[in-house]
Amino acid sequence: MTGCVWGECEKDADPSLTDELCVWHSEDPKKPHGPFEDELAGFFDVADAWIDGWHVPVKVDFAGTRTARKVWNDIDIADATFIEAVDFARIQPVIMEISRTTFKASVSFASSDFTHLEHLRFDGITFEGVTVFDQVTFDDMSFSNCHFRGGATFKNAKARRLQFGSCRFDGVTEFEQFSTSDSTAFLECVFAGPTTLLTTAMSRVHFARCDVAELRLSGGAFLASAEFHSVEWPREGLPEEREARRAASGYADRWYPTGDPNDVTDAEGLKVIFQRQARSSFTTRALQDAERLYRELRRSADNHRYWQDSSYFYKRELEMRRLAAGPGHSFRNALRRNIGCVEGWFALLSDYGTSLQRPLAWLGVLLLVVYPTFFAALGVTDNGLVYRLAIPPSLSEWLGAQLSLVALSTSMAALMPASSTTVLSPLAQLAVISLRVIGPLLAFLITLAIRTRFRR
Ligand SMILES: [Zn+2]
Repeated sequence: MTGCVWGECEKDADPSLTDELCVWHSEDPKKPHGPFEDELAGFFDVADAWIDGWHVPVKVDFAGTRTARKVWNDIDIADATFIEAVDFARIQPVIMEISRTTFKASVSFASSDFTHLEHLRFDGITFEGVTVFDQVTFDDMSFSNCHFRGGATFKNAKARRLQFGSCRFDGVTEFEQFSTSDSTAFLECVFAGPTTLLTTAMSRVHFARCDVAELRLSGGAFLASAEFHSVEWPREGLPEEREARRAASGYADRWYPTGDPNDVTDAEGLKVIFQRQARSSFTTRALQDAERLYRELRRSADNHRYWQDSSYFYKRELEMRRLAAGPGHSFRNALRRNIGCVEGWFALLSDYGTSLQRPLAWLGVLLLVVYPTFFAALGVTDNGLVYRLAIPPSLSEWLGAQLSLVALSTSMAALMPASSTTVLSPLAQLAVISLRVIGPLLAFLITLAIRTRFRR
């Protein structure tokens, strides 16, 4: 008889199995289930379970009755692999060793009580199925290098201190009414699947170096008190924004039934007028929700003096407001969101106060090209010279005339008085008035961009 080669296992290898391991450690899918069922029932009676490294092919129930908690003296499932579902619901372990464990199917820790453990650490666990931590209570708890692949729920879970380090959330993950009395930290976590934080108090939640591509923060309460440190914010916006944009881009084209049989129906039998309104109010609400989310996040960034994040959120907040002014494909709405609202102009002229190049370029084009042309066209006489639009007789003459008109435009934009020799037609005077508004406005936007850049 050869011994089992797994770790310090002292059992004999099972010659009927393909790997040189005992029945407990073997990964052979054809191994018998009977011994597991007997052994696990025995563990349940003595409330001790040492199954480290086991490859368990049967369902495991640590749970006990529906009402009372099951107290376990010692559970050791390090390096174990569970092929079938595992139920840890309502357990109350005194000692628990769980690291490098793999759960191939669903696992439930619902209503478990881990408060008797001073510190519980889930290390290197792979949860491939649905994982439930609903109503669980932890004291000081950490998940490190855990991989939640099949979705996880933490509804009404409570902890004193909780930390997720280098964890990956691939499935749908729901933190709902989740609370920690001390703090919650997510360090270097990747939220690759849709993760929600519905009505979770975020006031003592800290995120550092996380990938938040699919994290939906909008459900969280007190978001402005949460801290986000070195978080890579997605260029294309947070999921709430992406969804609102999708709704905005498709809202005029699609028809949704309203359920009212008196509505007018189209060729496909779908309701027409009300659907469009329902869709548009949905879109507006989605955009407003995204705007609110960015405002809360901006407040958080301001509170913690992360100015770069702050200006990112500010920009996106105004962008959401701009889109809400005219969502959809119609020309009228495109006009509304681009030039029919203050946000549209703010975006166009200075990229929401963040771009230095944009107002400088506008200023250059207006002072060098647009206003000199206006003045020539509208009628200006200076020092007895009459300027007008014509094909210039020579380049040097054109250059001289253009330069004096540029000088005139610039002095007007700088709010300087017109010289006594300059005579302006009534229309040219109107152009001067517009220039005296636009000039200082662009100067203000330039100052704003510089201030944003050097804010500390
Ligand atoms: Zn073994």
